[in-house]
Amino acid sequence: MKNTLLGSAYSSEDFRKRGHELIDSLADHLEQTTLGKSEKVLDWVLPKDEHHYWTDFLKNGDENALFKTIMSRSIHVHHPKYIGHQVSPPAPITALTGLIGSLLNNGMAVYEMGKAATAMELIITDLLCEKLGYEPKAGGILTSGGTLANLTALLAARKAMLPNDIWNEGHSQKLAIMVSEQAHYCIDRAAKIMGLGEKGIIKIPTTSNFTMDITALETSLAQVKKEGIEVFAIVGSAPSTATGMYDDLKAIANFSKKNKLWFHVDGAHGGAAIFSAKYKNKLKGISEADSVVIDGHKMMMMPTITTALLFKNRAHSHATFSQKADYLLEQSTEEDWYNLAKRTFECTKSMMSLHWYTLLKTYGETIFDDFVTSLYDLGQGFAEIIRNHSSFELAVDPMSNIVCFRYVSTKLDTTSLNSINEKIRLAILEEGEFYIVQTKLRGIHYLRTTIMNPYTTPAHLEILLDKAEALATANLPTAENS
Ligand SMILES: *Cc1c(COP(=O)(O)O)cnc(C)c1O
Repeated sequence: MKNTLLGSAYSSEDFRKRGHELIDSLADHLEQTTLGKSEKVLDWVLPKDEHHYWTDFLKNGDENALFKTIMSRSIHVHHPKYIGHQVSPPAPITALTGLIGSLLNNGMAVYEMGKAATAMELIITDLLCEKLGYEPKAGGILTSGGTLANLTALLAARKAMLPNDIWNEGHSQKLAIMVSEQAHYCIDRAAKIMGLGEKGIIKIPTTSNFTMDITALETSLAQVKKEGIEVFAIVGSAPSTATGMYDDLKAIANFSKKNKLWFHVDGAHGGAAIFSAKYKNKLKGISEADSVVIDGHKMMMMPTITTALLFKNRAHSHATFSQKADYLLEQSTEEDWYNLAKRTFECTKSMMSLHWYTLLKTYGETIFDDFVTSLYDLGQGFAEIIRNHSSFELAVDPMSNIVCFRYVSTKLDTTSLNSINEKIRLAILEEGEFYIVQTKLRGIHYLRTTIMNPYTTPAHLEILLDKAEALATANLPTAENS
C-alpha cells in the first residue's frame, strides 16, 4: 500500500501489538473490578466536565493512554457494588466474540453476508422457542435491543390481527393495545410510532404489588370498545422494569384467547428465567404467548446489544415487513429463513448470535440457570435483610433481582422522606463506591437496585444499607437533627 496512513490503519502487526496489550489491560481491569479491589464503581464527574476532558484529550492526550483512560473514566459493571441498572456484566468470553464480530463485520442482511452467524441465529432462536415450550412451527430472530424487538412484535401483531392491509394503506380505524401502567416506556413509544396515539395505549392499573390488575381487564376492554376503538394486542411484563414484578401471564393468556387478542410478553429482563429450574414458574403461561422478547444483554451475560424475538408461529415473523428492496431481497414469498433482513427492522445488524452460541458451546445452557438463579436468590436475600432492618422498608416483596426500598422514620412525613431518599441516592452516585438508581412509585421515592453481578454478596448489600442509613442521618431535617 502506497498510502502510509491507510497502511498503518490496516496493519496486522499493529493490530497484534495493540490487541495483546489491550487484552492484558482488560484482564487486569476485570480482576480489579470483579473482586471489588478497585474502590469505586464510578468516578462521578459532571457531564460538562467530562465533555471538556475528552475535548482536551483529543488535542493533547497521550494516544498510548487512550484505552486505559476509557476504562478508568467509565462505569464498571463488573464491580460487585454495581447494583443499579439492568445492563449485565458480560461474561468475558462474549467480549471476545464481540471482537470477532467487529473485525469480520459480517452485515447479516442476506445469507452470504453472515453465513456462520446466520446458521447460529437459527440454532439459538430455535433453542429459545423450545425452552419457551413452543411447538416446531415457532421461530424467531435476533435484533438490536428490547425496544426494537417490542416494536417489531407489535407490528407483527397488527398485521396478524387486523383484516385490512395497514402496512401498505395505513389505517383509518381507531386501534389500541392494552398494557400495564408499569410497562417499560418503550411499549408506549412503539404504540406512538405506530400512530396509535395517546388513546391507543390502554393502561391497565396495577395491584398493590405492581402487577397488572387482571380483574380490571374485562371492564377496560368493554369501555374501550364502546368508544369504537379496536384493541388488537395485550402486553404482559416479565417482569416490569421499575419493580421487577412479573404479571400473571397465564391469566393474560386466558383473557387474550377469550377476546381474540395477540398476546405479547415483554421478557426483556426476566424472560431468561425460562432457563432457571427454580424460577421458571414465574413465567407460567408464556408458552401461550404469540410473541416473546428476551434481552441477551440483561440476564444472559452478553454485551450490548442483542435481543431475541420469538414467535409462536414463525409465519408472522415473515409477514411483518413486506416492503420491497429488490436489490437485497429476493421476490419469493417463501420462508427463506437465511435472509434475515426480511424479518428485522434493521438492514445491517451485528453478528450477535456469536455471543449466544459461544456461551452455549463453552459452558452449556446450565450457565444461564446458574446466572439467573443466583441473582434472583440474591434479590430474595437482600429483601430479607431489608425486612429485618428497622430503618428501611421494601416497596414490594421482590420476584426477581430488582429490589426497591427506602429509608423510613416514623418521625417524618412522605415529603421529607422523599427528599431524604433522593439525597441518599445523589450522595451515593457522587461518592462512587456503589452504584444504585431510583424510582418513584405512586408518589413515593424509592432507592432501586438490580443485583446483576454474581460476585455481589449479602455483605456488600449490608454495607450499602449502612451507608444509606448514615447518609439519611446526615440529611435529616434540621429540626429533627437538633
Ligand atoms: C430493558 C427493558 C426494555 C428495553 O430493552 P432495551 O434492550 O434496553 O432496548 C424493554 N422492556 C423491559 C421490561 C425492560 O426491562
